[in-house]
Amino acid sequence: MKQHNSPWGTPDQDLLDRLEHALVAGRLDRRGFLRAATAAGLAASSLNVLADELDAIRANQSERAKKLQRAYDYIVVGTGSAGSALVGRLAVAKPNASILVLEAGDWDTAPSVMDPGVWFTNLGTERDWKDVAIASTSTNNRAIPEHMGRVVGGGSSINATIWARPFKADLEHWASESGDAAWGYGHGLSIFRRVESWQGKPDARYRGQGGPVWCQPAANPHPIAPAMLEACRSMGLPVFDDQNGAREEASSGFALMNQIIREGRRQSIARSYLYPVLSRKNVTLLVNTHVDRLTFSGNRATGVEIGSASGPRRIQAKAEVILCSGGINTPKLLMLSGIGDRAQLQAQGIKTLVHAPEVGKNFQDHLLHGGCIWEPKEHIPHRNSAANAAGFVKSQASLASPDVNLVQIELPYASDVVGKRYSPPNTSWALCAGLVAPKSRGEIRLKSANPADRPIVDARFLSHPDDVKALAHGIELAREIGNSAAMSAFVKREVAPAQKLTGPDMENFVRDGATTYFHQSGTCRMGKDGQAVVDAKLRVNGVKHLRIADSSIMPRIASVATMATCVLIGERMAEILTSRT
Ligand SMILES: Cc1cc2nc3c(=O)[nH]c(=O)nc-3n(C[C@H](O)[C@H](O)[C@H](O)COP(=O)(O)OP(=O)(O)OC[C@H]3O[C@@H](n4cnc5c(N)ncnc54)[C@H](O)[C@@H]3O)c2cc1C
Repeated sequence: MKQHNSPWGTPDQDLLDRLEHALVAGRLDRRGFLRAATAAGLAASSLNVLADELDAIRANQSERAKKLQRAYDYIVVGTGSAGSALVGRLAVAKPNASILVLEAGDWDTAPSVMDPGVWFTNLGTERDWKDVAIASTSTNNRAIPEHMGRVVGGGSSINATIWARPFKADLEHWASESGDAAWGYGHGLSIFRRVESWQGKPDARYRGQGGPVWCQPAANPHPIAPAMLEACRSMGLPVFDDQNGAREEASSGFALMNQIIREGRRQSIARSYLYPVLSRKNVTLLVNTHVDRLTFSGNRATGVEIGSASGPRRIQAKAEVILCSGGINTPKLLMLSGIGDRAQLQAQGIKTLVHAPEVGKNFQDHLLHGGCIWEPKEHIPHRNSAANAAGFVKSQASLASPDVNLVQIELPYASDVVGKRYSPPNTSWALCAGLVAPKSRGEIRLKSANPADRPIVDARFLSHPDDVKALAHGIELAREIGNSAAMSAFVKREVAPAQKLTGPDMENFVRDGATTYFHQSGTCRMGKDGQAVVDAKLRVNGVKHLRIADSSIMPRIASVATMATCVLIGERMAEILTSRT
């Protein structure tokens, strides 16, 4: 009997086959199929869930939300990449434990969520927290937007759908920082194998096929994507068959992207993990519910306080509260609850429960430089999520892993300043240099003690001179690739910067072109030292029954787009809570 892993334990593939035969033969309708398959614990990605069934799931949850209990065993705050993975696993592993999941945003039903080709149209809408990093001289006084998902699925519902797994060096660093080998590459690889439903060439060493996360190589990519890979080959840069897998152990390399797109639709991490457990009795999801602060008895977390139409309301957690609210909102919630730097809390009139000076510190994000742009001979509309090929290089040979990412974007991607200066035609495409191992560190601070106020994002981008040098290296390489013979079929002219830049001109171009990938991380660092915000088991130091599982725990930001890494964090949290490692 074939077995495959799933959030529902170890389901029976033969049963799935029998159910599918019954469905095809008309002996079972779709609803019956879904019910039987879910009850048997079959992988969500093997179920072609219909829209009306999703509506039924949401209606069922809305009904359950009306009968809110005073206490649940677990309270999970946030349904993003990590939160969804955690709840999907926990609900199955602990069927007798009640789980309340709280999400500030609404359901993920907007067409712009489901259509990956227009993902960027969610930015600035109600599905975005709309944060902006404060202006700084290091970005030539530009205030840089820091978008984040505020919707079921969090970032995974509005992001660019790229599924990129961390480098071996990233996870080995985390293992060393946390003092726990379970955060290392070996165990991480085994988690990714059980997470994935990989649709590309089978690769038993690196890729999984029976898991909840549908990921596929960019389907029918835009022709500039293979042309870019050809250009890289001709320049002696390594090109991989797959963006993940062997690349994680290498020091550089280019490939077609992996995307969480299934039959042209986004399959977010919420759709992969959370929806399949929403028909279970032990899971209650409240949407449009903002957690304002945490409640404590002494130093034990007892629950949360939520904003409601009739005023603040408290709900208790009998076992644990787990924060999965992301790299900006999680430190904000801790500080509002009295866990943070004493002086900063006092300044906002908040009583200190735990003096934890590192809460909100160590802020990191990847920078995406919007500046290298070409006008094509002929316009070919963008495909998939508009980014179908990318690669990693080291700006200095001595580095343990790459610090520069080059991403092809099939749109005239430019920062505010570069866009104004060069006015790229809207048929243009870009090859952007990205900084994926920043040395600059910023911080999140409270603006006030009012939970409705957004915090201050003091990102301090490019405040470390090495970050400027790394991006300059990336820009030079992007221009070399974009202007190479292999790309000439797609180039009428180079629009920006259109000349070799050196010295202060290059430095200004770097600072003027900096935007971010929206990978806010590191603000509740995991570590084995007492100063860290969480320990290797993701427990918040200084209090009991409170954990964090999201991008904020990264001791150092992984050198890739962060969704897959956050799924790994959610999976680790579930393992820890169910004591599997
Ligand atoms: C526009 C955009 C494009 C991106 N593109 C990619 C990409 O292509 N590939 C990739 O790998 N990564 C990408 N990312 C990054 C990736 O999506 C995030 O790093 C990842 O989703 C972070 O996961 P998380 O679990 O830490 O938090 P999130 O996914 O941000 O989830 C946090 C959740 O908590 C909720 N929440 C926060 N505060 C509260 C509160 N007080 N009460 C209740 N709920 C709360 C939020 O609404 C949200 O749903 C992108 C991000 C954005 C914004």
